[in-house]
Amino acid sequence: MSKIDSFLARRRIAYFSMEIALSPAIHTYSGGLGVLAGDVARSCADLDLPVVFVTLLSESGYLRQEIDAAGRQVEHADPWNPAQHAVPLEAMVAVEIEGRRVWIRPWLYVLTCPLGNTVPVILLDTDIQQNAESDRLLTDRLYGGDLAYRIKQEIVLGIGGERILRALGFTIFKYHLNEGHAAFLALSLLKSYRRRTNTWGGSLLYEVDPVRDLCIFTTHTPVEAGHDRFPYDLVQGTLGDFIELEQLKLLAGEQELNMTRLALNLSGFVNGVARRHSETAQRMFPGYTIRAITNGVHAPTWTHPKFAEKFEAAAPGWSHEPEILARIDELPDEPIWAAHAAAKHELVAKVAELTGAAMDPERPILAFARRMTGYKRPDLLFTDLGELTRIAAERPFQIVMAGKAHPNDAEGKRLIEVVHRHIGALEGKVAVAFLPNYDFALARYLVAGADIWLNTPMPPLEASGTSGMKAAINGVLNFSVLDGWWVEACTEGVTGWAIGKDHETGSDSAAELYEKLGNTVLPLWYDDRPRWIWMMKQSISKIGSYFNTQRMMRRYATEAYLG
Ligand SMILES: *Cc1c(COP(=O)(O)O)cnc(C)c1O
Repeated sequence: MSKIDSFLARRRIAYFSMEIALSPAIHTYSGGLGVLAGDVARSCADLDLPVVFVTLLSESGYLRQEIDAAGRQVEHADPWNPAQHAVPLEAMVAVEIEGRRVWIRPWLYVLTCPLGNTVPVILLDTDIQQNAESDRLLTDRLYGGDLAYRIKQEIVLGIGGERILRALGFTIFKYHLNEGHAAFLALSLLKSYRRRTNTWGGSLLYEVDPVRDLCIFTTHTPVEAGHDRFPYDLVQGTLGDFIELEQLKLLAGEQELNMTRLALNLSGFVNGVARRHSETAQRMFPGYTIRAITNGVHAPTWTHPKFAEKFEAAAPGWSHEPEILARIDELPDEPIWAAHAAAKHELVAKVAELTGAAMDPERPILAFARRMTGYKRPDLLFTDLGELTRIAAERPFQIVMAGKAHPNDAEGKRLIEVVHRHIGALEGKVAVAFLPNYDFALARYLVAGADIWLNTPMPPLEASGTSGMKAAINGVLNFSVLDGWWVEACTEGVTGWAIGKDHETGSDSAAELYEKLGNTVLPLWYDDRPRWIWMMKQSISKIGSYFNTQRMMRRYATEAYLG
């Protein structure tokens, strides 16, 4: 029996994602979307949900970031070795791209959870001898290249992935499109249904309803650039006559092919990733019903081992059933503070190793780590260096930052330079370290070892955010603008703090940040340690028990997959 056969007996949900963070050594992810998909897979294994995951092999990874002497991002390939982690399967399928046949070979990665349950992950690879030289590179670099490269990758993922599952013998009863990148999957399903006339929109020649019954679409961002759009001449040049242009325009937009629009029209269940995000998405896409399933994180993956030890003693079985973290607020202060001190010590050592900076563990560390891009405002904290210095002179604190910018995001790259100029200007006044190459492994140090987790997006552009959930479960207190998941999780002075008020527009976030940092957050850290530790426990119990992928996947299972 081949390795794949053991996965064929159960009918499965197919989860399609451009990226998925399976382990730190497997570079098939860029950031939040992929880490979420990985946490989803880990929870599916825990819960024994019958899912098969489909993604690209991304053999050269996304990007390995270096920062040069001038504070600029330098981009390198970030390869990994599939043969060390996965096995190539016998099946091969082809898709047509630019009139050429492009062969795709699947690799199988088996994700095993501590209980021994497994879920299969299919990694699509076009680096095959039969393919033209340029086609061999289609699954090489995640989000690499230009628009043409992107649409080809999405053809491989959506159409190639759908065909591979059939070729391997899977029986699929639902397809989950994780973000619009996977929308060609729905188009591929549409093609397999018999034509009939006048069923939808007056002139569509395909049976849409059976496809809508099969497809679930999760949209992940209200940011325009996050929605793939392709001009129709590019679509015709790559997809050829896969589907008639007039038909495609009815499904994906008149002016250009909008992958989100395509996914919306072909999915019977559509959701955003937090309540606030689903409201925003509902306004962006009137006429569709956009539900809300708020994101979570895989609790055992993101809990520092020292905290895991304490949790196991107080709430046995918490990693499988994070709901029972609700009782963590009964723990005494001492073990909580000791676990935090251990995690902080490791972060301080990591900062020294990577940058040479010496952080003082006896002073609070404020962390800001996320993709470097305009709407996340990594420079907001540095709006008034004089004010920042004054606050630090009164009650010293240290700042640790990290984050990559997408290679085509000029603004994000500029912000990395700007932040580095501020770091230089603050030398001798406020200790700030920028850690290069923010990834899965580095995130684990940061979300456990900081004291305060800062987030300053421009509302309503942060769909959810998940790093704050990882921090919260380690007793790191969130200090964040009210957007995304934080709208649901913030109880002021209990689970963390809000920067500014909800639904406030045109407010001065920087002034509010400084005011609360200087007058509330730092005084509490220095002057009322018992109350700080009480808040750490509130954060773990109230946030950790709810904002996890175990709860999230139970909701997808009952509302979307079985609905
Ligand atoms: C969790 C995580 C993210 C996403 O964090 P946000 O809060 O959504 O910005 C990005 N990158 C890495 C490496 C992560 O672990």
